Amino acid sequence: MERRHFLGSMAAAAAATQIPLKGSERDSTARITLLHTNDTHSHIEPFGPGNGAASGKGGMARRATMVRQARASIPNLLLLDAGDTFQGTPYFNQYKGKLDFELMSKVGYDASTLGNHDFDNGVDMLLEAMAFARFPFLNCNFDCKGAPALAKRLTPWMIKEFPGFKVGLTGVGVEFKGLVSPENHKGVDWISPDEALKPVIRHLREVQKVDLLVLISHMGYDLHGDAIDDLHLPGLVPGIDVIIGGHSHTFLDHPTKIQQERGETHIFQVGWGGINLGRLDFALSKGQVRAASGRPVPVAAIG
Ligand SMILES: [Zn+2]
Repeated sequence: MERRHFLGSMAAAAAATQIPLKGSERDSTARITLLHTNDTHSHIEPFGPGNGAASGKGGMARRATMVRQARASIPNLLLLDAGDTFQGTPYFNQYKGKLDFELMSKVGYDASTLGNHDFDNGVDMLLEAMAFARFPFLNCNFDCKGAPALAKRLTPWMIKEFPGFKVGLTGVGVEFKGLVSPENHKGVDWISPDEALKPVIRHLREVQKVDLLVLISHMGYDLHGDAIDDLHLPGLVPGIDVIIGGHSHTFLDHPTKIQQERGETHIFQVGWGGINLGRLDFALSKGQVRAASGRPVPVAAIG
């Protein structure tokens, strides 16, 4: 029973989502799937019993299997993470994040970003762990003038090319104040994400002419106040098609759609601890999102 459940969830992760399109649209329409995690917090093993709804869920090995199955059947796919990989289990105390980044590299992540907890052991220890990551860390709102080695390791934006279309990606992190001690982010200053994102979004839209623009955000979904969060960003910085979120550990059943000047922004976040793998499917044509769907896929128990 449990095994069937697991296989069922893998099949769900791998199955092509049927986005209905009119006959004439079919040929000119490109499809892309984004799989994503956030706030995995060193949960390399599945959650044990006594963890409520999370009991028996998660685990890097299962996530790897689900991703491998998905890649086998989905030609255009990106695997992304929204930060806070560090802190939460004895694996972090022992391996200081090196194991997490090594395993994420083996699973085949295309990009991640940095969350506040990724600074928990300071910049030098973060860099030591980042040496085990064979994927870029997207961030455009950390000013690393005083930490040149970290500046070299961060990528403000990148382009992923697929047959017939281009995806632009960038990333933002949450303010350090109250979350990261000054000693632990020495040499790194935070810039408000709206300020940092505007020129990047303009470049990706107007110069790179991307067909889909994805922001990986460790800002939090809804901070219930004036602080900038994922719900505020589309209004402040139009032109973002997708926000893959993190930080607030928010379990969303489906993406939140926000209307902005240039179209809709689809915001998604799938809890924490690797309990779910998020899945977003987009149909694109003529540089625009024509259809979208999304859901969390539970990283379910094996018998
Ligand atoms: Zn966080």
